Amino acid sequence: TPPRQQLELTLSRTAETVTEIPLWIDGERVEHAPTDLTMPHDHRKVVGRVHTATAEHVGAAIEAAQRARADWSEMDYTDRAAVFLKAADLVAGPYRDRINAATMLGQSKTAHQSEIDAVCELCDFWRYNVHFGAELGQEQPFSPPSMWNRLELRPLDGFVFAVTPFNFTAIAGNLPTAPALMGNTVVWKPAPTQMLSAQVIVDALEEAGLPPGVINLVAGDPEPIGRVALQSPHLAGLHFTGSTRTFQHLWRTIGENISRYRQYPRIVGETGGKDFIFVHPSWTDGVDALVTAIVRGAFEFQGQKCSAASRVYVPKSVWSQLREPLLSTVSEMKVGDVRDFSNFMGAVIDQRAFEKIHGYLQHAKSDPEHTILAGGEADAGTGYFVRPTVVETSNPRGKLMTEEIFGPVVTVFVYDDSDVDAAVELCESGTSYALTGGIFARDRRVVADLTRRLRFAAGNFYINDKPTGSVVGQQPFGGSRASGTNDKAGSSANLTRWVSPRAIKETFVPPTDWRYPFMG
Ligand code: NAD
Repeated sequence: TPPRQQLELTLSRTAETVTEIPLWIDGERVEHAPTDLTMPHDHRKVVGRVHTATAEHVGAAIEAAQRARADWSEMDYTDRAAVFLKAADLVAGPYRDRINAATMLGQSKTAHQSEIDAVCELCDFWRYNVHFGAELGQEQPFSPPSMWNRLELRPLDGFVFAVTPFNFTAIAGNLPTAPALMGNTVVWKPAPTQMLSAQVIVDALEEAGLPPGVINLVAGDPEPIGRVALQSPHLAGLHFTGSTRTFQHLWRTIGENISRYRQYPRIVGETGGKDFIFVHPSWTDGVDALVTAIVRGAFEFQGQKCSAASRVYVPKSVWSQLREPLLSTVSEMKVGDVRDFSNFMGAVIDQRAFEKIHGYLQHAKSDPEHTILAGGEADAGTGYFVRPTVVETSNPRGKLMTEEIFGPVVTVFVYDDSDVDAAVELCESGTSYALTGGIFARDRRVVADLTRRLRFAAGNFYINDKPTGSVVGQQPFGGSRASGTNDKAGSSANLTRWVSPRAIKETFVPPTDWRYPFMG
């Protein structure tokens, strides 16, 4: 189709260019100490030069955000909203190929994975947030006779520090803009490996008319950037998505600095997952739906979704039918360069991720409690490629069933049909995470029972479906326990975190006698 030809053209142009990716402070592009950015599926190929921030740059970004606050926060909501609505139309229109090419080449997403993330979800975030933000403003308190009570949605009294992960261009676009829509100004630190698409987001926001200093991008070594931002007395909020470990480190740092701040910073963080598929013996609707849910849920984008299925509980009766079709499907799946559209998977993001996943594969190979049924191969010669891997384990509490791997590895625990209650219990409390999970069952009593018993095991719960693929406005996303604060990105629940309401009471005819009747 013509859109496909257009994408292929932009892909080859982007791959042949070394894109300069400067910082963005007070509306200016700032260049300093660039480092090379390569493609995960061809790691010798340099596609960008990412400029990196010093402590002074972070300080300048905070000052720019502080300066921009007055005008931006007093601007009419409709004017702020118009910036993000226009940015969405730019991304859905003239920027579509650019943002897809950047996401495909920089993060190794297939065309499909890129389109649902960098275009569809990013536009959804920007458009739905505008709608939800407008709704929030309508909620007003009761006004009895003689007075008028109002609630004014003020932004927070400082800047918001947005720290974003590599795995979703849409999240990178949403975390700085959701607070900005509500009138805040922002210092944004993207992940180093997402910078190619981060640059396109900056270009779209700039073209959409975002005034200088409202969002300031600082890239580079995370630790010093984080230290400067979190020590500022003006820190008013942290909007984070990434690993549980990093979030806990940032929260701890905020705790250590708590007496420095002019206000208590709002802390919002969506973090890791160990997401499940639980098959109940009452599932008698064939194995095709299970195979599709497992391979799409576990292997799309190389399993690098916080929601990726990575532990599966299957009763023996179902496993006997599921095993062969699952393994033959996995063996058919092609892994390689995302510019070859017949590949279902690309490469994992970088060497660190490759080595971490490789470590889990080595553990599965050497440990007698695990059997690798499919995949298990990993080769970093050209790109960081890991074959989709299915492991069977006899230990439902082992590390492959409890730790976040963040790669294309799914572990299956096969339980006796008669032990279904114990298996549900394992699924509920087997890990510290509680992000997503899907159950497969036919009998409605079972569906109701599992929904109740797994109530706290997942913030996004799926019935007869895979645990990935939430859509803004349809399945507000987030989990609890070690998976985050569950403030549901792309919903009014999230936007309320970026406002500090002021209640205003106006008395029309003030009392003039200080005495109360009872005194007489
Ligand atoms: P990460 O924790 O390594 O990095 C996230 C961000 O934090 C990056 O920008 C990184 O540079 C920054 N960072 C790291 N150390 C820092 C420090 N000391 N100070 C300041 N910033 C610091 O995570 P990642 O590898 O980019 O993303 C993958 C993780 O994100 C997975 O654990 C995944 O489950 C999680 N995730 C969760 C959700 C969700 O909604 N729950 C969505 C996407 C990803």
